[in-house]
Amino acid sequence: MKKRLLFLGPPGAGKGTQASRISTKYNLLHLSTGDLLRSEVKEGTELGKEAAILMDKGELVSDKLVLSIVEKKIISPNQGWLLDGFPRNLSQANSLESLLKKLSQPIELVLLLEVSDQLLIERLLARGRSDDNEETIANRLEIYREKTTPLIEHYSRLDLLHSINGDGGINQIEAAIEEILI
Ligand code: AMP
Repeated sequence: MKKRLLFLGPPGAGKGTQASRISTKYNLLHLSTGDLLRSEVKEGTELGKEAAILMDKGELVSDKLVLSIVEKKIISPNQGWLLDGFPRNLSQANSLESLLKKLSQPIELVLLLEVSDQLLIERLLARGRSDDNEETIANRLEIYREKTTPLIEHYSRLDLLHSINGDGGINQIEAAIEEILI
């Protein structure tokens, strides 16, 4: 079974939901940079204060800040992991790769959850997080297209990428993911 995984996909694709199910089921470390940043914001740390301004606008926080969080958490050698929401651009992908090289823990699989724009917007509006208003959503989708989609080509060149249709129900998508993992 593959146990060092990245989840890629636009906001609202269901990365968090699926990552949380799969990581529980297979005892993987679930690392969501969005969740980690939100808890820094909640605790009112300096890092959280800096991040909140950008998160509220739907902008990406700086690579340096995100990396400092990921480096702290990554990565016990015996446990598999699942990264969700990171990397978000090529520079983060390169930093991640050099970190993983040092740790001798290469990525085994990148899962791309693909969902139509219409459905993404519906899902995000229904979720109601503080950065899920119409204006911010449009910005996040644009940033995804501009900054994150180059990773699709990047990981497909490395022969790591698998696409999953994320339009269906939660159980159906989970089953499709498991079929690829095992
Ligand atoms: P998410 O929960 O993944 O949708 O992330 C929520 C917000 O956190 C994003 O809109 C960004 O502001 C910030 N964020 C999360 N992950 C990253 C990352 N890898 N790089 C930069 N910003 C991030």
